[in-house]
Amino acid sequence: MTLLVVGSVALDSVSTPFGETADALGGSAVHFAVAASLLHPVQVVGVVGDDYPVGELDRLAGRGIDWSGVERVAGESFRWRGKYSYDLQSRETLETRLGVFADFRPRLPAGAENARFLFLGNIDPELQLDVLNQVKQPELVVCDTMNYWIQSKREALLTLLKRVDMLMVNDGEARELSGDWNIHRAGRWILDHGPERVVIKQGEFGALLIERDRTFHVPAYPLEEVFDPTGAGDAFAGGFMGYLARVGSVDTDHLRRAMVYGAAMGSWSVSGFDVKGFEGVTTADVEERVRHFVDLTHIPIAEQIS
Ligand code: AMP
Repeated sequence: MTLLVVGSVALDSVSTPFGETADALGGSAVHFAVAASLLHPVQVVGVVGDDYPVGELDRLAGRGIDWSGVERVAGESFRWRGKYSYDLQSRETLETRLGVFADFRPRLPAGAENARFLFLGNIDPELQLDVLNQVKQPELVVCDTMNYWIQSKREALLTLLKRVDMLMVNDGEARELSGDWNIHRAGRWILDHGPERVVIKQGEFGALLIERDRTFHVPAYPLEEVFDPTGAGDAFAGGFMGYLARVGSVDTDHLRRAMVYGAAMGSWSVSGFDVKGFEGVTTADVEERVRHFVDLTHIPIAEQIS
């Protein structure tokens, strides 16, 4: 089951109350791939400039990440700069520089047109559509987006929404896209605009899987230390899609389990700056953390009161 992701391959400069990074490995596709590769091999489509530390990507290739769909061209790599509030609940984008992504036309690596699981990571919705058009018969198409694109490419995003199975966004993005502050009504608004399902991530409060007639919730893994939330949403998506690609199924039970794998990956992502939270993490660690969720969410059936 081929798992394919298109997204930004970035250099991030992040400031949190616990430290900062400058031009560190980042981007939606990178965070996604690092998490997904713990569960299933993943192919990445993107572009970097000639200033990118490609050696770092090559180092990660050993984990089962195929970077052959990442073009290397002359120019400046995508750069993003952000600053988090004291409680890490909100962040401000200080700068977004598209660089080589401004003129990027995605080309799929060999075999990727047959991908069964496709994640359209946070990037210009026109590029997301471009990749979607090149994949022949995907079984599951999930997409992400961000306030930057909701504001600057709304029409393209709404066109894309009609063609995907699932939108996966955070609560702020769901509110901004729908214009509704209530997260459940925002979810319904999204379902009315195309996707069959929507996942809304709520940081330390967990994530919701909203379908037309029911909603599922997974908590965040309880952590006493959090350093950098950047990329947690992409890591969640990587766990979610990596698990589904691994089991080769999109039935309801698997989707719910995929939410737990997503939550587990999000917890490592926030434990370190850039992708360092994943250093030393093995697939066995993932399975063990997933098992903790059983106890975290188990509700013993109450005795009948009446
Ligand atoms: P998340 O924290 O899950 O929202 O993902 C943050 C990642 O998205 C960072 O590594 C950034 O490089 C990347 N990013 C930020 N803004 C954009 C944008 N407008 N388009 C694509 N990627 C972006």
